[in-house]
Amino acid sequence: MITEQLFIAGKWSAAKATLPVEDPSTGEIIGTLAAGTADDVDAAVAAAQAAYSGAWGKLTAAERGRVLARIGKAVEARADELAQLEARDVGKPLKQARADALALARYLEFYAGAADKLHGETIPYLAGYTVFTLREPHGVTAHIIPWNYPMQIIGRSVVGALAAGNATVVKPAEEASLTALAFARIAHEAGLPPGALNVVTGTGEQAGAALAAHPGVHHVSFTGSTAVGALIQAAAGQNAVPVTLELGGKSPQIVFADADMERALPFLVNAGIQNAGQTCSASSRLLVERTIYEPLLEKLSARYRALRVGAARDDLDVGPLISAAQKARVEKYIAHGRGDGLTIAAEGAIASNAPRGGHFLAPTLFAGVAPDHLLAQDEIFGPVQVVIPFSSEDEAIQIANGTQYGLVAGVWTRDGGRAMRLTRAVHAGQVFINNYGAGGGVELPFGGVGRSGHGREKGFEALYAFTRLKTVAAFHG
Ligand code: ADP
Repeated sequence: MITEQLFIAGKWSAAKATLPVEDPSTGEIIGTLAAGTADDVDAAVAAAQAAYSGAWGKLTAAERGRVLARIGKAVEARADELAQLEARDVGKPLKQARADALALARYLEFYAGAADKLHGETIPYLAGYTVFTLREPHGVTAHIIPWNYPMQIIGRSVVGALAAGNATVVKPAEEASLTALAFARIAHEAGLPPGALNVVTGTGEQAGAALAAHPGVHHVSFTGSTAVGALIQAAAGQNAVPVTLELGGKSPQIVFADADMERALPFLVNAGIQNAGQTCSASSRLLVERTIYEPLLEKLSARYRALRVGAARDDLDVGPLISAAQKARVEKYIAHGRGDGLTIAAEGAIASNAPRGGHFLAPTLFAGVAPDHLLAQDEIFGPVQVVIPFSSEDEAIQIANGTQYGLVAGVWTRDGGRAMRLTRAVHAGQVFINNYGAGGGVELPFGGVGRSGHGREKGFEALYAFTRLKTVAAFHG
């Protein structure tokens, strides 16, 4: 059995209560987490503030970069171990879990290099003045992490904040905290000063809410549901501190008749079923030009029928959903679609050796769905895609923009002008032309519009969010 504790000021400590750790592939309880309270959050924020005012805050940018680079090497060296842990905790097929661990190493590499390349500007001004800007860390940053990609989100959120010189308090999701704790261990062994990274596990209602509302926190990064994002923003608003919200999505891929269909096919399906569809930037809507609707639907269906679902360790196309509750939620949507008479074009299959207690669900492809149907509007967060036909470029744009979300969009066409028109017209934080996701590059700013949130993580852009600007005007005559 795994027994995890809180990590505050470089030390491990027990909490008053615990939470169970479940393996979603089997439904078995494999350990316990500490259920952190508001008092634990207080201690973690105090530890972060002390690190910011002390050893961590005193490092130069280049020294911070070197520490992050060392952690990156250690994460890379232990990618297999981290992947095993994540596969057990989240139910991710091993290959995906390993890709997440390597992505975390790559974030560390990128932000290690960026730490000493972040600087202000000089501004031409009145005679006798020299004006410049300083980019300063906020101080203590809070990071509330979801369960779907713990390592990648720690990479793009926590690592960026550390590179910019902040001290951090991390609240991982109660369903998936193990790799956040492993990361804390690795970071400390690699020389991160105590208090620069604190991990308070626990529930969202207790530990998460206390952290978002804490007056000692100077910036809050949140990735998760739109509903909780609104609570976080309101809580942070009480302290007038900035927030980065990376919320849900209902991201479309728009396929025109002139697209390279063979190239498109794997992207169309993988973007919907990767991580069992539990991905903010999942492409859950496939908009297909009517003239190729039938042949493309047949090819999509064939791919769906070939999908295999099973335990993370078996490394099939799709693993389990994170929990029984999540599975029930997705099943409800599928039942709703069936009840409304929607056509199920194809389903994947659950492997015969999939453990009985696992939260498995067959990927489901719905065809001919009206753009305003619930299944084409709500973020389902499961391996479910809807195919929606369209007749013109204008109609495609209208459907693509016809949800409350705007995270990512994909456009498939060989017509360069059309690709650019669509790129300009769609509401999204990222647009992919003739691909989807571009391999998830850490360099590429990521975030949403509308109910998908605001602020950008990843790339250099995140470093601007993790700093605040001070303008200095010196009069010297
Ligand atoms: P999901 O639907 O992916 O579970 P949530 O938005 O519920 O997303 O959870 C994302 C993260 O937010 C988790 O770490 C969770 O514990 C935390 N969380 C949930 N509710 C709250 C809350 N009221 N205040 C702060 N954090 C919360």
